[in-house]
Amino acid sequence: MQRKPMIERYREQEARRNAMGPMGRDFHKRYMKPFNMWGNLWYVGDNWCSSYIVDTGEGLLMLDAGCPAGAIAMLIQTIWEAGFNPRDVKWLVLDHEHIDHIGAAGFMQKMFGTKLVMSAAAAKTMREHPEWTGLQDSSDCFDEVFVPDIEVNEGDILHFGKVAMEFKMAPGHMPGAMAMFFNLENGEETRRAGFFGAHGANTITNEYLDEIGDYERVTRQIFLESCKRMRQEKVDIFVSGHTGMNKILAKLEQWKENPEINPFDNPENWNVFFDNKIAEIEAFIIDPTRGFKYGVG
Ligand SMILES: [Zn+2]
Repeated sequence: MQRKPMIERYREQEARRNAMGPMGRDFHKRYMKPFNMWGNLWYVGDNWCSSYIVDTGEGLLMLDAGCPAGAIAMLIQTIWEAGFNPRDVKWLVLDHEHIDHIGAAGFMQKMFGTKLVMSAAAAKTMREHPEWTGLQDSSDCFDEVFVPDIEVNEGDILHFGKVAMEFKMAPGHMPGAMAMFFNLENGEETRRAGFFGAHGANTITNEYLDEIGDYERVTRQIFLESCKRMRQEKVDIFVSGHTGMNKILAKLEQWKENPEINPFDNPENWNVFFDNKIAEIEAFIIDPTRGFKYGVG
C-alpha cells in the first residue's frame, strides 16, 4: 500500500493534537508539585487529573494514571519527587475506563510489571467498546487499550501489602466506574479514605447517549442512583479523581495559610461533593440542555 503524502499525515497528526486541546498541547502547564495528603497517602497527579501513591509498607499502590498527553513523564517525575521510585509501584488501581484516568497504565504495566486493577465492567468496555475510552483522541498514537491483570466486582476486597481495599461499583458516568475504600495510617491514627472519580456530565448528554444507543436515557438514572449510594458512605478523606471535585488547589492554599489544620482530613468533603453532584444530576435530568459545573470527568 502506498503511504499517504507527508503533508496529509502531518495534518492528521495535527488534528489529533488539536482534539486534546490546550490540556494536551500544553501538558507541562498541568504539572504541580506532589504533596503528602495525609499519613501514607501522597498526591502525585497534575492540576487537572489526580493520581495518588499509597505506601502500603510492602510496595507502592498507585491510584489512577492521568491523561495520556504528558501523564507518563509527569507521573514518573512526581513519584520521584514524592520520595519514591516508580519501579516500586506494584499495583495500579484505575477507577474507570476513560482516557484521562488510564494515561500511564499501559506504560507502568510494560515498563515495571505493575499489576493493573480495574472493574470487570471496565475491562469489558475496553474489549467491546474501546472507542468509549476516548483513546482515539490521544495525541500519542501508541496509546491503546490494555488487558488489566486483576478484574474486581462489587464488594470485592483486595489486600495490597497492609492495605485492604474494598471495591464498590458506581456505574453511570461510565459502565466500569467504581469507588474504592481503604484505611490510611500515620503511625498513630487511622482514617477511612474513599476514592471516587467518575463524575462528569460528558457521558450523559443527549448527543453522547444517542451515540451509544441509550435512547431511554437510563444511564442518567443509573448515575444518580450510584451517587446516592456513595453518599451513604462514611469517608474521612476524599480521594478525588480530578482536582476540581475536591477543590484540591484551593485547599492547598488554605493549608498554607493555616498549617495547623489539614483541610483534606474532613468527612464533610465527601458529603458536600455528593450533595452537590446529586442536585446537579437531578437538575440535569429535568433539563439536559443545562451544563454541569465540572463537565468532563
Ligand atoms: Zn471519565
